[in-house]
Amino acid sequence: MATGKTYEESAENNDHLIRSSDSQHPANLIPELCRKFWTLGWVTGTGGGTSIRDNDLVYLAPSGVQKELMKSEDIYVLALSQQTDPKKRIYLRSPPSLKPSQCTPLFIAAFTKRNAGCCIHTHSQWAVLITLLLEQLPSNATLFEINNIEQIKGFGRGYQKQGNLGYHDTLRIPVIENTPHEEDLTESLEEAMDKYPDTYAVLVRRHGIYVWGETVHKAKTQCESLDYLFQLAIEMKKLGLSWLSDIA
Ligand SMILES: [Zn+2]
Repeated sequence: MATGKTYEESAENNDHLIRSSDSQHPANLIPELCRKFWTLGWVTGTGGGTSIRDNDLVYLAPSGVQKELMKSEDIYVLALSQQTDPKKRIYLRSPPSLKPSQCTPLFIAAFTKRNAGCCIHTHSQWAVLITLLLEQLPSNATLFEINNIEQIKGFGRGYQKQGNLGYHDTLRIPVIENTPHEEDLTESLEEAMDKYPDTYAVLVRRHGIYVWGETVHKAKTQCESLDYLFQLAIEMKKLGLSWLSDIA
């Protein structure tokens, strides 16, 4: 019977993992967040993405889907503890006729190396413009730095550290070079995490940014704060103002 077969197939595909009436369930939250990010121009034209970790389970937006139209049925689910070979990813639940996101190994790096609860990838124009501006400064092309701006207080001090940055602290975001295939960014993203252990974000030249946090709330507010700071920094550059100042 056709209906019986459909039920069997959906049971095998663990569809219960993405079905919940709770608006805060990752399979409901990811489409909701992507709709908001789309209105900000962060995930336009199917670019960018979002992933949420709940203990061992990771929920992922798929590849190539219009982010403002995404549904919970489009969400992939995997268990971190089952991943032994990055080239043979094991999914607990896969949406029919969609492809996994090339961002997957980068999201997993934030979860495994930084114990993040959420990772957001945007193609924000402000993030891209910052990497283009830095490209013109050979002395400091791989690090964005800014201090003495109130919004810096929106960032945690770093992995396993208590509290947030202060007004006079310098926020530093490393930049890695883009590659033709997004998954090939993984190694350099992990290197940047090792070199800047306190960072919650890595810029990708001419591409966008990855931002993570211990919770969805922290990842989202840090992503918003960064976008604000990048936009401000671009306006500052136009006016000939320096991103670093010695007010103390
Ligand atoms: Zn991307």
